Amino acid sequence: MHRISRREFVKGTIAGGIGAAVLGGLTKGQGVRKAKTRYIAAYDTESPGCLAACRKIVEVHKRFEMPATFFVVGRVLDANPAEYRKLLDDPLFEIASHTYSHRMLRDNDFCGPAISMEERRKEIFKGKEAVERVFKRPCVGLRPGCGFDNGFRGEPKVLALIKEAGLQYVSSLLWGPDYSMPALLREPFNYKAEGYPEIWELPGHGWHENLLKDHNRWGPRRLTLWPPPFPEAIPEDFCKNAEDEFELNRVFLDKAIETDKPFVSFIWHPWSLAKFDPDMKMLELTFSHVRGLGLKPCTYAQLYEFVSDTDKST
Ligand SMILES: [Zn+2]
Repeated sequence: MHRISRREFVKGTIAGGIGAAVLGGLTKGQGVRKAKTRYIAAYDTESPGCLAACRKIVEVHKRFEMPATFFVVGRVLDANPAEYRKLLDDPLFEIASHTYSHRMLRDNDFCGPAISMEERRKEIFKGKEAVERVFKRPCVGLRPGCGFDNGFRGEPKVLALIKEAGLQYVSSLLWGPDYSMPALLREPFNYKAEGYPEIWELPGHGWHENLLKDHNRWGPRRLTLWPPPFPEAIPEDFCKNAEDEFELNRVFLDKAIETDKPFVSFIWHPWSLAKFDPDMKMLELTFSHVRGLGLKPCTYAQLYEFVSDTDKST
């Protein structure tokens, strides 16, 4: 285990702007393990506006040498296969599936009821096939449209399809308890209880950022839980600018380190990021903070390799 001295840590974190809460932990004489918590930049790429937005996003990633996972809807990919391949075919990026056409793989309180089992099969298989055909590399992960407040817990039939398709992980736990926002800092787990120990759940965290900006035009909704499990992660109003959004991201990043989480990843949508912040300033602020904190950037596929290996060795 690599530990750094308090002096090095203080020097590094003053530059990185870490909060006093984290420094407070040092006084217990435990030191801080550098780079244990991973950070994953991930994008639910799902509508026509995402292509132009991805051009800007990719530019920031290359500048920061920051890996990312792009969960892409098959139909969106099929509309512009050459453009997406040219843009995202880079060793920094993992391309995974966001289903074929963003239809519901189980009931979702906000996004509607599940489609039939036969249609779910198509969403899963065709979505994976589109990624593999366009990028000529295996697609190992699936993030279902909208996600659910309990992932695929209690859904063995859907997990059977996911296994049959050859997928290794899902990122489907994308809400807090009782379909609340934000999604809490939940850790990876596998679906052993449903009979699929080889399939891992790698959740997403924080807010679906489009909701923070009222980009779905839902207006005020019954979205937060009472009592709130994570009150400092509930802003008073919609975000007005990139700084507001970053300040909220910072709450989760700092908390992930403070509570020694294996990883942290936000639920981002290229179309919504570009509409709100065309210069991608929020990405720059967030990635700078990630670097300052010493978080370890990776993709969801790399997190899957890590958690499944660790599980085998224990
Ligand atoms: Zn989506």
